[in-house]
Amino acid sequence: MVQRICILGATGSVGTSTLAVMALHPERFEATVLTAFSRIDALFAQCQQWRPRLAVVADAAQAQDLGQRLRAAGLRTEVLYGAEALCQVAAHPDVDSVMAAIVGAAGLPACIAAARAGKRLMLANKEALVVGGRLFIDAVRQGGATLLPIDSEHSAIFQCLPEDRRSWGERIDHIVLTASGGPFRSRDPASFGSITPEQAVAHPNWVMGQKISVDSATMMNKALEVIEARWLFDLAPERIKVLLHPQSIVHSMVVCRDGSVLAQLGTPDMKVPIGVGLAYPDRVACGAPALDFLAIAPLSFEPVDPRRFPGLQLAYDALAAAEGTSTVLNAANEVAVAAFLDRRVAFTDIHCVNAQTLGQVLPAAADVASVADLLALDARARSFAATLVQRLAR
Ligand code: NAD
Ligand code: MG
Repeated sequence: MVQRICILGATGSVGTSTLAVMALHPERFEATVLTAFSRIDALFAQCQQWRPRLAVVADAAQAQDLGQRLRAAGLRTEVLYGAEALCQVAAHPDVDSVMAAIVGAAGLPACIAAARAGKRLMLANKEALVVGGRLFIDAVRQGGATLLPIDSEHSAIFQCLPEDRRSWGERIDHIVLTASGGPFRSRDPASFGSITPEQAVAHPNWVMGQKISVDSATMMNKALEVIEARWLFDLAPERIKVLLHPQSIVHSMVVCRDGSVLAQLGTPDMKVPIGVGLAYPDRVACGAPALDFLAIAPLSFEPVDPRRFPGLQLAYDALAAAEGTSTVLNAANEVAVAAFLDRRVAFTDIHCVNAQTLGQVLPAAADVASVADLLALDARARSFAATLVQRLAR
């Protein structure tokens, strides 16, 4: 049967890779909904190719513009706009699966809507799970949704875990998330203050959106991934470890009680974990080059130096603190990264903003009672972080 797919964030890095995998299997996958926030030209081109039933853009002006162009091209795609429309399409009865590929907390409400509607939810948008935490997982359970990780490390763990999920806790000692170390793994930390946005987004192994590229350079990406793993696999934080692995070939590992280690390997290409999610539990070709064992560099592993990458510890601090603290950390980081990309603050200020916001915006139980409460907490942390940015701004 054809799987009818809604891609939230279709014009982004993960969104376009998703369409590239789907294009190899037109008999299996149909793009029923495509959404974008900016790049309307790219969305229009995708609509011409995929003829989705629905498209969602950010605002009324964009919707009018796209609608006119689609009609002129003879297409009947209906155009909706705004955050509420994202929730509507994610829960739409004509959609089987949702690829959550929006960047940031902005993707949370649509993920919750998809989860409550019992969809197959392919999660690339890690911030949504970091912000949503327990509420997100409860929505998946209550809605009877299937949550499939797309983040390469979590896809790796997912693939290595035994099918019988109830016995994970007893069988597994810990998991190891691998981190490439990003572009500054061997740069002198004393010079981190002069890092430019161009240098920070130039990742050695992966081509990705700007925000996650900066997160990879600060190691905040791994911090978010530790929190993501805590919720995806229901593991205590001390059972989630991180190792540097500069070649990005081993995508992550599961260490069993008996000492046996299960690892997933592959070329560093998001089409692989995307293909795993799209076809699950089947396996289909995804268009990524095969892993050539004789050509890959020797595989190496190193500990993470906390002085070079102080951001990683913030994940463990957040998980040890009151629920909602991860929401605060994510909000601060989104604000700080945006300010860095805008050249308002230095690369090293990202960590200052994150650490200070984490220490000052303290959530209470009432802040995590509903999605609306979490979004209010997110807004409170953003406004605190924004004042810090103003103080630091050059
Ligand atoms: P990107 O910036 O390339 O694309 C983001 C997409 O989301 C775009 O389509 C954009 O139009 C849309 N978008 C942005 N802000 C929005 C908003 N406020 N409302 C609605 N739509 C919005 O990002 P990406 O690199 O594709 O990453 C997407 C998500 O996947 C992130 O959470 C990232 O951490 C995660 N992820 C990405 C990769 C990767 O290789 N790129 C790997 C693992 C995980
Ligand atoms: Mg990852």
